[in-house]
Amino acid sequence: MTKYSEMQADIKNNYNKVKQSIPSGVKLIAVSKTRTLEEIKLVSECGCRDFGENKAQELCRKYEELPDLNWHFIGALQKNKIRLLVGKVCLIHSVDSFELAAEINRRAMSEKIVQDILIQVNPANEVQKRGISPAALRELVNKIKDSLPSVNIRGLMFIAPKSDDPNVLRSYFREMKTLNDGLGLEFLSMGMSGDYNIAIEEGATMVRIGSSIFGERDYKEAQQ
Ligand SMILES: *Cc1c(COP(=O)(O)O)cnc(C)c1O
Repeated sequence: MTKYSEMQADIKNNYNKVKQSIPSGVKLIAVSKTRTLEEIKLVSECGCRDFGENKAQELCRKYEELPDLNWHFIGALQKNKIRLLVGKVCLIHSVDSFELAAEINRRAMSEKIVQDILIQVNPANEVQKRGISPAALRELVNKIKDSLPSVNIRGLMFIAPKSDDPNVLRSYFREMKTLNDGLGLEFLSMGMSGDYNIAIEEGATMVRIGSSIFGERDYKEAQQ
């Protein structure tokens, strides 16, 4: 086998293994940041429709080539990049302020669409992470619902802290599930390659998985 066909077989195998380990009601989002169109096509050939990207320009480049896939924006949102995303992405996972939601609303209105979003929450209170604190969540959700008709809050999103202790992770995932239920929301986006099994046990409805499908990322080789 050539090196390329080995890589192809690996990615397809990885995807199929991950997919089989996930209950059918949980949506698997393949996180394709830094990955090539060829790699993305391999995964889509296995039946995957949902792909996640964390940079607006990179997402747009890939969207132009593969517009029929469902693109999810999962990265740090910048106000001046929102216009690139609205109308292309099925779901923006990383809204954590009224200001960002208002800008999405403005863009969605001018495109005459309603943009689905998730609110990113930071229950671990990690200073380096984005996300609103659980204490401020309800007020933000109500304010968006009351005043921004062109955004639709579908659920919450969470990026777990790095921890080797499954009990610590589990308690955050559980807190997220309680917050989501308390707000009557439907989607709960949590769980990555290292922790998705626990996230699913605690009620995740969407998992975002990159390296377990595509292999380790090499940011130096990636064409940014
Ligand atoms: C990169 C990324 C993922 C996927 O991470 P893996 O550990 O490679 O599965 C999930 N969510 C977000 C927000 C990411 O940036």
